[in-house]
Amino acid sequence: MEQSAYENLLKRLKNKTINQDKKSMSRIEMPTPDIVWVGNKTIFRNFTDFAKVMRRDPEKILLYLAKEFGSATYIANEKGIFVGKKDPSKFMALFERYMKDYVVCPACSSTDTNIERVNRLSYIICEACGAKLALKGIFA
Ligand SMILES: [Zn+2]
Repeated sequence: MEQSAYENLLKRLKNKTINQDKKSMSRIEMPTPDIVWVGNKTIFRNFTDFAKVMRRDPEKILLYLAKEFGSATYIANEKGIFVGKKDPSKFMALFERYMKDYVVCPACSSTDTNIERVNRLSYIICEACGAKLALKGIFA
């Protein structure tokens, strides 16, 4: 991928975050994806950093990406390994979608949220507004 296209994407993501700030959304600074392609595998070297800033279980995020990519994924030495050649922009787009579904509070749009598991259900707990809402799926 061209560097300029990637920079545009980052800019777009950033603008979006700034717009959301106006709606009292706290901002998550996404790291820059550190990705190398080896053979037909994509090695995402700082994958767990993304899990950290989103405050979600890397294994769950991996599960989500596996579903979206429709291919095998695993974590080795804190790196995400993906079968096939994946562009950084693809990861960023999926992280954005993941955030919307599993990180951002549906009530107040804050990203200061935690996950609470009760039996087999997952709830998103918002530290900003106190909302507790059931989440669909197994990805948080
Ligand atoms: Zn909230």
